[in-house]
Amino acid sequence: MSIASINPANGETIKTYEAHNDDQVTGKIEQTHNAWLKWKLTTAEERSTLLNQMARVLNNRKQELAKLMAVEMGKPVAQGISEIEKCASVCEYYAEHAASHLQNQIIETEAQKSYVSFQPIGVVLAIMPWNFPFWQVFRFLAPALAAGNCGVLKHASNVPGCALAIEEIVQQAGFPEHVFQTLLVGSDKVDAIIENPYIKAVTITGSTQAGMKVAQKAGSLIKKTVLELGGSDPYLILEDADLELAATTCTDSRLINSGQSCIAAKRFIVVKEVAEKFTQLMLAKMKVKVMGDPLSEQTEVGPQARIDLRDDLHQQVQASIEKGAQCLLGGEVPEGTNAFYPPTILTQVKKGMPAFDEELFGPVASIIEVADEAEALAVANNSVFGLGSAVFTQDLERGQRIAETGLEAGSCFVNSLVKSDPRLPFGGIKESGFGRELGLFGIHEFVNIKTVYIR
Ligand code: NDP
Repeated sequence: MSIASINPANGETIKTYEAHNDDQVTGKIEQTHNAWLKWKLTTAEERSTLLNQMARVLNNRKQELAKLMAVEMGKPVAQGISEIEKCASVCEYYAEHAASHLQNQIIETEAQKSYVSFQPIGVVLAIMPWNFPFWQVFRFLAPALAAGNCGVLKHASNVPGCALAIEEIVQQAGFPEHVFQTLLVGSDKVDAIIENPYIKAVTITGSTQAGMKVAQKAGSLIKKTVLELGGSDPYLILEDADLELAATTCTDSRLINSGQSCIAAKRFIVVKEVAEKFTQLMLAKMKVKVMGDPLSEQTEVGPQARIDLRDDLHQQVQASIEKGAQCLLGGEVPEGTNAFYPPTILTQVKKGMPAFDEELFGPVASIIEVADEAEALAVANNSVFGLGSAVFTQDLERGQRIAETGLEAGSCFVNSLVKSDPRLPFGGIKESGFGRELGLFGIHEFVNIKTVYIR
């Protein structure tokens, strides 16, 4: 079997890679397990030095890695450079903070000494998507290595070049051989990999469907999972919002990575009295965005990552229009053998339409008009997803109350777009998944939280 990189801007095959066969996969997992037996004995200082070196390698290679993303999955180069810088920052964050995050926690009992110690668990399987082909991997890898774990990666089948580049970066940084390896395999091989006794846990970022399959398999073998799945993030625009700020932020969030982000704003829930003004502001901002060659520094919206994904998105838009949504902008497939889809705005979106019920993984904004805050919250929470959310209001106490207790999501941002940050936990509820990445909580997901009791 082979795995091909296809440039979504023109449909050309860039390179074809031979997939690893079953024996190679088993051998690599065993090598990584053997590497772990030594890696778990390294000190926090040694791990921290290597993580800082990895940050330097990433920063030195950011132009070239951004170009690789541009041709493999269509990310505009300027955004690719930021992604690599963010990968470097998560390495630096854990280089600095892992030791304190993993410090023993003394708990007073009747014993002479009792405490909690955080011990590494072994080889973690990471199943990752193509949308942030470096960031998604590094936000798993930096805390995993910092905690004394090792990793194997099953990356999305359309980004094999990025997957191999990550393995190379780990080596260039000077980490011991095999602490991290890429497995070039299709998703049909994942069950067997999870069954491998050296695999101790699994993390997946991707669609809810893939997450369900992986969680089922891992659960049947009592292997821990972290699931980072889809989202349909609601952004509430209340009557007292700064509409200019809201429209700019909503447009930027909707178009992150050409619309292909789990935490992109997807449903814009706007209180009636400001709905027309907000819609016009957003329309003006969406329609001037520059769509084009991802290798150009000027490009703001690249192609979608694959033609089949673009076609699925267009079907969701069409089906929503058939059910009564109005298309204010975009909504048409450009000609040619490419995966482009233009910035699109749908209004009068309602429950029962794909634009409301499903994740629209592309540059399509769904505007929903509501009477007031109460209805806005009810509509926002009427979703199977619960990843990120945001609220726009100039009353910060009101914003805080809605953020803390009103919106059902793993995070809620007030007057800002939802973004991941190495310092803050990241993850979802409901069908958006469970477990957390990043920050203190992220590094604690894949450790043995061990009680030590000395009488
Ligand atoms: P998938 O969820 O299918 O792919 C994500 C990763 O999971 C890939 O590595 C994929 O491998 C793997 N995978 C897929 N199915 C299985 C399975 N049954 N068992 C084990 N691993 C599996 O995403 P798609 O690329 O097909 O995109 C489809 C939709 O998913 C998007 O339109 C979007 O809605 C959502 N999505 C959400 C993401 C997010 O960040 N939340 C990221 C990517 C997609 P392989 O590529 O070999 O199939």
